[in-house]
Amino acid sequence: MRIANLNGRAALITDAGAIDIASASDGAFGPDPMSIYTQWSEFVAWAPTASLEGATAWEQADLGIPVPRPPQILAIGVNYKDHAAEAGIPAPDELIVFTKFLSCLAEPNATVELPSEDVDYETEIVVVIGKAGHQIAKEDAWSHVAGISVGQDYSERTIQRRPPVPQFSLGKSFPNFGPFGPFVVTPDEFTDRDAITFRATLARPGEEPITLQTGNTNQLFFPIDESIHRLSKIVTLLPGDIIFTGTPAGVGLSRGILMRPGYQLTTTLDGVGSFTNEFVAQVESR
Ligand code: ZN
Repeated sequence: MRIANLNGRAALITDAGAIDIASASDGAFGPDPMSIYTQWSEFVAWAPTASLEGATAWEQADLGIPVPRPPQILAIGVNYKDHAAEAGIPAPDELIVFTKFLSCLAEPNATVELPSEDVDYETEIVVVIGKAGHQIAKEDAWSHVAGISVGQDYSERTIQRRPPVPQFSLGKSFPNFGPFGPFVVTPDEFTDRDAITFRATLARPGEEPITLQTGNTNQLFFPIDESIHRLSKIVTLLPGDIIFTGTPAGVGLSRGILMRPGYQLTTTLDGVGSFTNEFVAQVESR
């Protein structure tokens, strides 16, 4: 099952087109995209019965933030073996965790203003929580997941690494620094939910596009179930929470590629879909 935010309303994305969830359910679910996560078990029971009769065409410009107001946004750093190697960081014994503040979330195809010349990309699988829990056992963790999305953890590296203490959450929370989408996909849609693949490509004016990152969640130090288990030892996870799970190798810091006006970065969840962010110069006089 694929769920999108189309013009602010929760929608099922089917081969026949988009189904408006509030209309199809006679108001039992939606239209607020957040409302289905607080009724997740009921929604999952209803969704297969939804009539396809009202299916309509949709386009990329209709896509909003799939989960627009998560109660909590958790993000994990240094979670891929190849990324730790390129950054020269030893394998972590415990999760490295920060937040991205709510206002940085963006619709998948958002245009991103560059606050400096030190903006990097981090292509990541985003997990959406569908069931609350504290101290969730690893073997129960997937039952707390509503779905999977792909996102960018855009990062202003100067602020992120500013001494005396790094400021991860600030450096990663400029407006539109957290686009994700295009949909929330339930885990059963993946051949192997523990080996989800994703990628990012960059188009620079006048140049052939290049692949920046390719990732597979089978390379995580802390796989999705283990990450939920460890996070929930401390934090009570809530319906609608999202977790940025970390980025694989190939970030701009290591490749010497930072974002500039006119660059277009396309993020893809293999077998599901893509979105593209264009970068522009920051409007003056802030
Ligand atoms: Zn990240």
